Amino acid sequence: MKIFVHIFILLLALSVNGQTTYLHCGKLVDTKNGNVVTNKTIVVSGEKITAVEDGFIQPTSSSDTVIDLKDKTVMPGLIDMHVHIEHETNPNRYLEDYVLNDADVAFNSVHFAEVTLMAGFTTVRDLGGTGVNVSLRNAINAGKIVGPRIFTAEKALATTGGHADPTNGSKNELMGDPGPKEGVVNGVEDAAKAVRQRYKNGADLIKITATGGVLSVAKNGQNPQFTVNEIKAICDTAKDYGFHVAAHAHGDEGMQRAILGGVKTIEHGTMMSDETMELMKTHDVYLVPTISAGKYVAEQAKIPGFYPEVVVPKALEIGPKIQEMFSRAYKKGVGIVFGTDAGVFPHGENGKEFGYMVEAGMPAMKAIQSATITAAMILKMENQLGQLSPGFIADIVATNDDPTVNIHAMEKIGFVMKAGKVYKH
Ligand SMILES: [Zn+2]
Repeated sequence: MKIFVHIFILLLALSVNGQTTYLHCGKLVDTKNGNVVTNKTIVVSGEKITAVEDGFIQPTSSSDTVIDLKDKTVMPGLIDMHVHIEHETNPNRYLEDYVLNDADVAFNSVHFAEVTLMAGFTTVRDLGGTGVNVSLRNAINAGKIVGPRIFTAEKALATTGGHADPTNGSKNELMGDPGPKEGVVNGVEDAAKAVRQRYKNGADLIKITATGGVLSVAKNGQNPQFTVNEIKAICDTAKDYGFHVAAHAHGDEGMQRAILGGVKTIEHGTMMSDETMELMKTHDVYLVPTISAGKYVAEQAKIPGFYPEVVVPKALEIGPKIQEMFSRAYKKGVGIVFGTDAGVFPHGENGKEFGYMVEAGMPAMKAIQSATITAAMILKMENQLGQLSPGFIADIVATNDDPTVNIHAMEKIGFVMKAGKVYKH
């Protein structure tokens, strides 16, 4: 049986080049119109969807392939807008920064990338690591390893001692004085230089840590850590390179500065006030909720020794607040784009976020749209990703149950196609 399955997958993989694949879809989630349609055939040729037809169309050529998804619900490949693909949580996570070589990080990240793709996430936005993320993206794009399409921030930007300062918590000799090259900026000149360095290093976008954070070895999890002028300098420079800017923020003041400075997304948004929600709407800034990460760190913080002592009270205080804030933000009409912070919790569990969003009052279809069309729009890929329409890249996933009826189906993606190639069936 196992051999049969492997041969089947091999045949599917071989069928990609130059041939046409017909996917018979019992149910299909139309993310553009926000409804579920039945009995459709998606025609895939090479990397692209060439047609979506009514009924179950049979191929005209004997070399073409049919994939039977008649008892499945088929959707566009999912997009997670907040992952850390290089690392994964574990009790030695803090030690890893001192003992792992880049080669170790690289091999680990190959595994995390594969797990993420198999969970149905055909595209991710990586919000910060060491720079291995850029090489990982390139290797995936070149077809050398299996993983999602990656848009990466390379190294996140912080101020001295800020959430993404890479030497936080080190002893003095190791602390040094990292600068723009290492992602630490103080003042507007540093800010511009740090963005240009990311461009040079091969980043696709910019991430800043606008406030303190939960998992850094530092006392405050929510204080503002940039001035508006520094954020403005980052966003203005980012524009020169076609980058958008994502801002990690838990505290309200830091969030407001980030919005006024010109960022495109607020990550977490934990302490967001009603006033800031209005500001988000006025400035067309989207919230990336990461409810999964909040819940996970609050649970892990109860295990003695899992996190450093300074992290525990922050995780207990901040973690559980995100879902309630998300509920208010959604009801107020703040734009929502799907993101989990995978890596802070185990990779591959990204799909749980959908359940948390629905639990907080967002309809299932809207949650799915936030992980498809909305995410594609922020990545400026709205004409290529997030829809099952002719001309779009053939990123296609399927579940046994209809997720608009049972949202937990999103945690069990059984079929994954990326750019016309089947990776899981
Ligand atoms: Zn993160």
